[in-house]
Amino acid sequence: MKANYRARPDVLALLKEARNSGATPAGNQALEQLVANADIAASQALPLCQDCGYVTVFAEVGQDVAFDGSFETAVQVGVGQGYELGYLRTSVIQDALTERVRPEVERPANIYTTLVPGDTIKLTVMPKGGGSDNASRMAMLRPTAGVDEIVRFIVEAVAASGAAACPPLFVGVGIGGSFDSVGLLAKKALLRDFREPAQAPAAFEVEVRLLSEINKLGIGPAGLGGAVTALGVAVATDRTHIACLPVAVNISCNQLRSASGTL
Ligand code: SF4
Repeated sequence: MKANYRARPDVLALLKEARNSGATPAGNQALEQLVANADIAASQALPLCQDCGYVTVFAEVGQDVAFDGSFETAVQVGVGQGYELGYLRTSVIQDALTERVRPEVERPANIYTTLVPGDTIKLTVMPKGGGSDNASRMAMLRPTAGVDEIVRFIVEAVAASGAAACPPLFVGVGIGGSFDSVGLLAKKALLRDFREPAQAPAAFEVEVRLLSEINKLGIGPAGLGGAVTALGVAVATDRTHIACLPVAVNISCNQLRSASGTL
């Protein structure tokens, strides 16, 4: 409920900062409305957007924790209760191919569990809108591709989405790993505080270049033009196979949401 009601501090700060920084007058008005929307959502306990997302839960589970019952079921039921109590829209359907209807048993979350030392459980809940997830892409590039090709692939993905991903965007990029892990790497990059740059110099350089090139696209807030198409880019890198260069871009709309708690 908190993730859906309260704008993340970094998201709100960057939305405020972006006002009058190169968007068109209509784009600036959209930014003002997004800031006002965040205030209304927080003060009146209303969702930041009608699309309350497909929930991803990142669980860091202490290896000294003992469970009485199914952890996975507890998380699914907990997320479902949050959506019901919070009057949040559930958007997960029964089956992508055959039955695009409300599921018989709600399983609203994708759960990724990591075992860590200790006796606590940290849960990070990330509801993500379908419009911006649709704009996301991954590719297995040639290992010789280099930074230019990586940047071109990501900028083309943003350009193709136009206004459909609800800009201004937050762009999570994963470089490395394998076919199955690089999408998760890109999604996890969206959890970073977007006011903080990447620690690694090579990743930082790619972030600066991507932000500049994306903002030259002129899509602007809500597609209304100008220089504020993205508010931030977070690049995460990983090891990979000698023959591979997996790249994924997980695009988030202006409603980049997440909240954490520790039990
Ligand atoms: S993409 Fe984001 S802002 Fe747009 S409708 Fe979906 S959740 Fe809302």
